[in-house]
Amino acid sequence: MSIKAFRFQLRVKPGTERALRRFAGSCRWTWNAAIAEQQRQREAGEPFAGHAAMCQWLTAWRHAPDTAWLAETPVHPLQQTLRRLEAAYQRFFAGQGGYPKFKRRGQEPGLRFPDPKQFALDPVNARVKLPKLGWQRVRLSRPVVGELRNATVTRERGHWLVSLQVELPDVLAAADLTPTLGIDLGVALFAATSDDQRIQPLKALECQQRRLKRYQRAVSRKVKGSRNRRKAVERLGRLHARIAAQRSDWLHKLSTELADRHPVIAMEDLKVAAMSASAAGTADVPGRRVRQKAGLNRAILDQGWAEFRRQLEYKCAARGGTVVPVNPAYTSQRCSQCGHVSADNRTTQASFECVACGHADNADTNAAKNILAAGLAVWSCGTTACGAEVSRAKPARAKRAAARKQEPTEGCVHA
Ligand SMILES: [Zn+2]
Repeated sequence: MSIKAFRFQLRVKPGTERALRRFAGSCRWTWNAAIAEQQRQREAGEPFAGHAAMCQWLTAWRHAPDTAWLAETPVHPLQQTLRRLEAAYQRFFAGQGGYPKFKRRGQEPGLRFPDPKQFALDPVNARVKLPKLGWQRVRLSRPVVGELRNATVTRERGHWLVSLQVELPDVLAAADLTPTLGIDLGVALFAATSDDQRIQPLKALECQQRRLKRYQRAVSRKVKGSRNRRKAVERLGRLHARIAAQRSDWLHKLSTELADRHPVIAMEDLKVAAMSASAAGTADVPGRRVRQKAGLNRAILDQGWAEFRRQLEYKCAARGGTVVPVNPAYTSQRCSQCGHVSADNRTTQASFECVACGHADNADTNAAKNILAAGLAVWSCGTTACGAEVSRAKPARAKRAAARKQEPTEGCVHA
């Protein structure tokens, strides 16, 4: 069994918004009141009160005239808050964390509904039913599969999100662990694959980039501390969230599709951090082509290769496979047909023509084919233990074993 999370934006009406804020505030109040009570008991020389004891305090609070308003909030999120508080205390007692802190306004814990009987999902009408709130519309951006386990409602950047955790059976047969796909990451292209797919970067982000600049300028023009500036900052924050969601959505669709077809993928071991390091250089050694590199850096970061790789790694692992890292040296200059290596093979940025055998291909596709071949070499060497290549193969195998133990818990944000 594996656990997976689906996160969706709740489309709350103003009345619901007020109720959700009140619920979250009640959770925060419960957290703080329980810490205060723990401190009072400790000073009185009494032992630590566990979750069950704290839940009895909660019941008393919900019945006390002064705090009867707590009863307007569903009881489960309040109890879950106390469960989280107990865990925080246990970490503190084990020396793994500090003493639990009081929460201020804006630090509300999420509303967790632990019992699937307490909530419901209606995928046809894109809505979820929550205790004391009834049916609420959600932006159901993808189908939910698996058996519902729990739901958590949180507030992020002005949006209410619901995260639905589901349990999925493991239906994955032990995959044949030979790489079947090579991926070359490009700049003009987002990526090219050894099976002739050329993946264009997400164009929508370019348009958003221009809007981002405009919003940033708007913020800088407003008077500091003014109401208009705060509004402009909020607008900028919403755009950032939207860009992140668009990129995440696009990357998830792409990585899922690739991992579904190819559970074992060879990919260049690209040091994204090194490639996107500042091009400005130092005062002694000024960098060359600074402007061009700055544009390239932004393109690299925009395209989110590191995130793409991270997604492929866990998605391949979830399918019983892995990502095989390959040294990218010469992959762009080597002929995938005859193996001849020459800088002259690369006639232009986009096209490859071998000076030895005449093989012509798209330059990025040729590189992807080389990466697949290198991945196959790493793999067969690793399994037959031949010489120098073993040291490179070992980390990949160990990583695969480790990856298999972990259950994927990643979901994707659709805001
Ligand atoms: Zn050739």
